[in-house]
Amino acid sequence: MTEPEIVDVVVVGLGVGGEEVGGRLAEAGLSVVGVERDLVGGECPYWGCIPSKMMIRAANAIAEARRVDGLAGTAEVRPDWAPVAKRIREEATDTWDDRVAVERFTGRGGRFVRGSGRLDGPGRVRVGDQVFQARHGIVLGTGTRPSVPPIDGLADTPYWTNHQAIEVEELPGSLLVLGGGAIGLELAQVFARFGVRVTVVEALDRVLAVEEPEASEVVAAALRTDGVEIHTGVKAARVDHDGEGFTLRGAGGETFTAERLLVVTGRRAHLEELGLDTVGIDARQRFLPVDDRLHVADGLWAVGDVTGEGAFTHIAMYQAAIVVADLLDHARRATRGPDPSGTASAVGGAMGAASAVGANGSSGPAGTVPPADYRALPRVTFTDPEVGAVGLTEHQARERGINVQVGFAELSSSTRGWIHRADGFIKVVADADQGVLIGATSVGPAGGEVLSGLVVAVHAAVPLAQLRHMIYAYPTFHRAIGDAVRDLS
Ligand SMILES: Cc1cc2nc3c(=O)[nH]c(=O)nc-3n(C[C@H](O)[C@H](O)[C@H](O)COP(=O)(O)OP(=O)(O)OC[C@H]3O[C@@H](n4cnc5c(N)ncnc54)[C@H](O)[C@@H]3O)c2cc1C
Repeated sequence: MTEPEIVDVVVVGLGVGGEEVGGRLAEAGLSVVGVERDLVGGECPYWGCIPSKMMIRAANAIAEARRVDGLAGTAEVRPDWAPVAKRIREEATDTWDDRVAVERFTGRGGRFVRGSGRLDGPGRVRVGDQVFQARHGIVLGTGTRPSVPPIDGLADTPYWTNHQAIEVEELPGSLLVLGGGAIGLELAQVFARFGVRVTVVEALDRVLAVEEPEASEVVAAALRTDGVEIHTGVKAARVDHDGEGFTLRGAGGETFTAERLLVVTGRRAHLEELGLDTVGIDARQRFLPVDDRLHVADGLWAVGDVTGEGAFTHIAMYQAAIVVADLLDHARRATRGPDPSGTASAVGGAMGAASAVGANGSSGPAGTVPPADYRALPRVTFTDPEVGAVGLTEHQARERGINVQVGFAELSSSTRGWIHRADGFIKVVADADQGVLIGATSVGPAGGEVLSGLVVAVHAAVPLAQLRHMIYAYPTFHRAIGDAVRDLS
């Protein structure tokens, strides 16, 4: 049996969350082993946020150029995918090579091990023949992979997930998108703006079903204007590929065909691969349950998508700050014993207090980063118009039995929205008993940016009276927030 090597911390999975935890702990002077089986940085920089937003930036430039007609003369647009693919290859992903990211991690003092890590009993991680015993803790940041539904025939076809869609060098003539969630809609609009004939097939009765129904309507209308066909309420029953293209059949007899099929029906954590049984944790769960300090079990933490608290990079970073603070605190206590005042500097020696500054901006001694609180979790769907949302939707709030008030303002009724000819709205959801906002949605050309004011309002529980009487700059999109708040009834 291999003799375990003793280190301070082992991080399994160096995606956004794992790399942040491992890098910061290593910078603070702990001996950290970071294990990654694919690319350091994870989904976000190689197949997620960054390349998809590069695609969106390009597609929006096309759409904006097409708006010149009728506003500022005429413009002829000839879309070309080559510069987009080149930018993703060269600027975002280094042709899907993580050499720079590995150096970034080792440059912070981490030790990098390429391979698949799994728990091997309490405090131990196995990577092939190597076994590491963690003195202070193990952090799982193993993320998710696309969840592919068990549709007859699908597994035998060359369908795309987000990986192939992001890596594409030459666009197909037509594309079926199975799944009308945020990722599906963002990619559908991009490809449609580049001239691909796109059809979105969604099982639920509306696209973007987790957000407000009004947001679904505006986004569906915008995509239709871009030429996207949208079919909701279709339960996919069978998929075939004849060597040339795909045929998707719905349970109701509907038939759709296209050259390519993109499956974006959600994501799944693969807990069965992590050796959780060796530490007494049931691996048959959808995600790894954590408490508000991201603690899974004694000496075991988790960050990011694997926790199921929201599949966003900003969640992984937010959680990472808590785990870093707690592990530094743990290390300090182990080396010095408990601090009776409870306010001591983070960790002695190389592990200075400055190193405990959280990625979410929190600072101070380790252990003082507040517990995770997802009440004001922001999310943005980067379609055009963008959908920014925070906290609860009206439906979620009513389901919880809250005494709900709703305020609504069309963007087109605000001066900026009218000038811009923008579709969109602000919707706010208030707890009438508490006199605060508990949710809000901002749809518009800068819906994700306008959201920030609403996030502060929900996060800090700003009294409605204050929101009603504050000054909103004229003529901005965010001025519609004031109208929506005054509309609360
Ligand atoms: C198309 C797309 C667009 C997105 N856009 C946005 C956006 O605009 N904004 C946003 O906030 N979020 C976005 N996301 C989500 C974002 O990418 C994820 O929330 C984020 O990557 C989660 O980070 P993570 O560290 O939890 O996991 P991941 O980034 O998934 O990283 C996990 C890492 O763990 C590794 N791993 C897994 N198991 C093991 C093992 N046993 N041993 C070793 N290594 C292992 C994997 O190889 C992977 O590198 C998008 C996602 C997609 C797919």
